[in-house]
Amino acid sequence: MPLDFLKRRGRGEGQPGSTAPPPLGSAALPEEVVAAEYQLKLYYAGKSSEGVRMKAGPTALTELPGMLVGLAKSEIEVVDPLPIEFSQATPVIARPSEAMQWLNAHHAHSPVTRHALVVLESIDAIDLAFDTFVCSLLDGEIDTSDYPEYNAIVGGVASHWDEATGDMIVCAVVGWGGRGVRGDTDRTGSRLLAGLLTNILASQYSMGLTAVERPVPAAGRGGLVCAHCGFASAHERAFYCPKCGMRLLRG
Ligand SMILES: [Zn+2]
Repeated sequence: MPLDFLKRRGRGEGQPGSTAPPPLGSAALPEEVVAAEYQLKLYYAGKSSEGVRMKAGPTALTELPGMLVGLAKSEIEVVDPLPIEFSQATPVIARPSEAMQWLNAHHAHSPVTRHALVVLESIDAIDLAFDTFVCSLLDGEIDTSDYPEYNAIVGGVASHWDEATGDMIVCAVVGWGGRGVRGDTDRTGSRLLAGLLTNILASQYSMGLTAVERPVPAAGRGGLVCAHCGFASAHERAFYCPKCGMRLLRG
């Protein structure tokens, strides 16, 4: 430790008339503390539509990327539901175990998709415990590192399997945000949501709008393994494999 350096600090250097160091403990608290202020305002927002019921079984999954055609401004990526080893994945870097799971699950995706996951998972608009998420840049620009600007809009469609019927339920979902907000982003987001919903309803398998009842994960550890695709579900209530949509066999 360079002690000379420490001695040079706080000894009244630069104060006129200061010839000796002030005695320890004599510094009175000033009447008003001069504080340096620091602040970061992060703003995330998003919208999801009503659900559209699809009657096709697992083959309807192949329809999902096509629902972004005409609206996507970047590559369309599919994010599968997370298997049980990633059941704690959270995009919060201060929680290293959860963050590491999240990175391990998503590091291979594009910057647009990772940004979309951070925004939409942070505001709870999608849940990868049961959602399949199909994503693209929908509006705005990306920066020089290929990450969307704060006023860019990302999103696409999210689907899950209705626990009562096994039908696929598809919603349109959009999100945006970061270090700032722009006045017209909300309106553009609504327009894009309507465009996506139109595309979903135009699917050959569409049976029309339905209320969305999100499956609620139970507190237990889940762990049913799909006999059809081998996916280990972390979802206690999953009668239908979140990944392939086939009926899970219990017992
Ligand atoms: Zn499966």
